[in-house]
Amino acid sequence: MMAQSRLQLSPKGFPMNSFEELEWMERGNCKKVNPEIFFPEAGHPNKHAKMICATCPVKSECLEYALQLVGWDVIGVWGGTSGKERRNIRRQRLEQESLEMKETA
Ligand code: SF4
Repeated sequence: MMAQSRLQLSPKGFPMNSFEELEWMERGNCKKVNPEIFFPEAGHPNKHAKMICATCPVKSECLEYALQLVGWDVIGVWGGTSGKERRNIRRQRLEQESLEMKETA
């Protein structure tokens, strides 16, 4: 039996991107594996998912998409990152933007 794509599993509330904008999902390494690997229960390892992401040709697109997620941003491995890692990336970007604004003010 063929595994479902992550797009089919996505819960409501994900950003409404056009089909063309989400085309990269069709090229993800996770397309061919059980999506449950990418949504481990709290406290369970996500190492297997991260290994699959490591060689994914659309890793950066996936990470940027996941960084847009609001409300669901702590769930699952996207672009090789955990929810905690994405929160850190988001915080670092905000700090960088704030610093740049202060420098230009
Ligand atoms: S980076 Fe990981 S989660 Fe994202 S599309 Fe690739 S394999 Fe799937």
